[in-house]
Amino acid sequence: MIVTFEPGVDDATVASVVRQAERYPGVRPQLHRFDGERERITELHLVGDTHAVPTDDFESLASVRRVVRVSTKYRLIGRHRPDDEAFTFDYNGVHFGRDTLHVFAGLCAVDTREHIDAMMRALAAEGVVTTRMGAYKPRTSPYDFQGLGAACLPWVFELAGRHGIKVVAMEVTHARHVEEIVEALERAGDPTGVMLQIGTRNAQNFELLKAVGQQARFPVLFKRGMGISLEESFNAAEYVASHGNPNIVFCLRGVKTHLGEPHRNLVDFGHVPVVLRQTRLSVCIDPSHSVGRPYVAPDGLPDVFHAVGQGLIAGATMVLVDFHPHPEVALCDGPQALLLPQLPALMRYARKVRATYEELVALGAG
Ligand code: PEP
Ligand code: MN
Repeated sequence: MIVTFEPGVDDATVASVVRQAERYPGVRPQLHRFDGERERITELHLVGDTHAVPTDDFESLASVRRVVRVSTKYRLIGRHRPDDEAFTFDYNGVHFGRDTLHVFAGLCAVDTREHIDAMMRALAAEGVVTTRMGAYKPRTSPYDFQGLGAACLPWVFELAGRHGIKVVAMEVTHARHVEEIVEALERAGDPTGVMLQIGTRNAQNFELLKAVGQQARFPVLFKRGMGISLEESFNAAEYVASHGNPNIVFCLRGVKTHLGEPHRNLVDFGHVPVVLRQTRLSVCIDPSHSVGRPYVAPDGLPDVFHAVGQGLIAGATMVLVDFHPHPEVALCDGPQALLLPQLPALMRYARKVRATYEELVALGAG
């Protein structure tokens, strides 16, 4: 059961409702606060055996806007009524929500200082303040390049600061990596921000999910599990929110099946509206790991561009996309990387599709 308070409710009133909830045997009240699209939202979640708890007891309070019994397990990130507001958040001067567009273009795996510099210089020229930089790489084979790890963080962060990059999406595969990132950022004087990425292979690494949920400093980019149901991925993302951190973006990155061939994965951006409808999260798409190939369509646009369009025209507001100044020497996923001279065209394409989406929504379906 979720009790939603009227906006602007005071702490003493909330505390008295918490005490009232505590009187029911077997019920654990949990208080959550987060930014919605229009206002700050305060919710009291009654967890446990709530069958015997009458909704009237809370609905009748002047401070309570409404009470809903929830049927999904992902109660916090879930959107239980059509008018449930989506989560929004601001991080390091960048706003994340369903009304924005952020392209996180960058290196799948950090290799040299020169490549980072070239990448970030190209982003700065386009007015882009977000990038992806992989330092910790989860690889299928233990003999493949595992990423430069903590060693590259000082120069990634220093260069990000120099080029005005505000948020770097960076995968972590162990809670220790979060500490290493905090340390490196502090040592560099906090020149940039980091969005912690949970990769598809760790989508159900519950201890890692709890660890990124228990910290409030960094937002989290959660990638759907490539071989589990969407519902299971929602429950996994709920681990992050339920441990205290609602600043989550949900990323679609394709699912594993030979039916996606000749692409690396089956592009699953038809699920964008599903995620927007069933959860309160905003959606990122990763066309690089979905398509995973350098194919170009007969219209002259790479398949990766087309996938970007498919995600944005459905309402995604963030794109995670691989670039490399020299894909032929990239240490990870070179074949799917776009080239730096393609960045202006990708940005133009993405901005135009987003604007078209907004126009089409305004026109409606009637
Ligand atoms: C990545 O973004 O570099 C990555 C490894 O992606 P995924 O977890 O989607 O495979
Ligand atoms: Mn990759």
